[in-house]
Amino acid sequence: MDRFSTLITAWYRQNARELPWRETNNPYFIWLSEIILQQTRVEQGLPYYLKFTKNYPLISDLASAKQDQVLNDWQGLGYYSRARNLQTAAQQVMNDFKGEFPKTYDEIITLKGIGDYTASAISSFAFNESKAVVDGNVYRLLSRYLDIHTPIDSTLGKKEFKLAAEKLIDPKNPAEHNQAIMEMGAMVCTPKNPNCQSCPLIDSCQGFANGSFLELPKKEKKTKVRNRYFHYLLFDDGQSTFINKRGKKDVWEGLYDFPLIEQTEKGELSKENISNWKLENIEVITELKHVLSHQRIYATFWKVDSQIEMSAYQKVKISELGDYPMPQLLIRYLESSANIW
Ligand code: SF4
Repeated sequence: MDRFSTLITAWYRQNARELPWRETNNPYFIWLSEIILQQTRVEQGLPYYLKFTKNYPLISDLASAKQDQVLNDWQGLGYYSRARNLQTAAQQVMNDFKGEFPKTYDEIITLKGIGDYTASAISSFAFNESKAVVDGNVYRLLSRYLDIHTPIDSTLGKKEFKLAAEKLIDPKNPAEHNQAIMEMGAMVCTPKNPNCQSCPLIDSCQGFANGSFLELPKKEKKTKVRNRYFHYLLFDDGQSTFINKRGKKDVWEGLYDFPLIEQTEKGELSKENISNWKLENIEVITELKHVLSHQRIYATFWKVDSQIEMSAYQKVKISELGDYPMPQLLIRYLESSANIW
């Protein structure tokens, strides 16, 4: 343990990137940064961190904000459940912890949207609790350093890697140790071309010694990607259009989109749908392909001139569309040159 931790923390002191969430002990700010950075590159997450700490400087500000506002501020970052959970957890802190961010791993992990990784990160960075973080970077580095071939997405693998990380952590210096191991994974032991020649662990790295490091880490499941075919209807009477707030249990819960017809096959809008929706005078504006982690969306945008009764939808002014948080696919459309407005 000692040597591993000494080597990586010495490297970290020389090479760490300067990032604002590393300059603070405030658990609320650390938590914000951790949630923003899940599945997100540092360069992309940084402006969102700055925006959230500015717009919601206290956890009470986030707890009491309008959900539309929070989702609007999150717009463009994707995985919107993170933003909804952030706000629910902020409300939990206000109600269950008297507004004070909980101080231990065991309490932090009870908050909505916080799993083992995030609870370990906050409790170690803010409170120096000896809990080892295991994120994608740590999985990669440890699988190579210890030459572990157990799939990282298996139950057994999760246990094995957590145990290995707990054995290696320096209990006297957990915050810096955790920062160092993640930074090493992000900057040196990278997925495609790990920079072994400048790695402080090269002499004791078993994956390097055995020549297996490029095959690691192993994964069990391949992510299945599903194709979906969306047809968005953009009603236009010169002033207003219709939008719809996405419901519960939806990946886009709380966001707004245009009236949507989903078909199972690629191609034109079916005759049945055109007649069911009583659509007349429709024409294709543009088509966009949008890729999410488990879905490939082929979206066709239709201009609809006909005026029909759309009581299930919200009628809004076209000039005010920007006030409504929308999925990235629709932001792309609204920002494209094909946009009719
Ligand atoms: S020596 Fe290479 S494979 Fe081993 S931990 Fe360092 S960068 Fe990763």
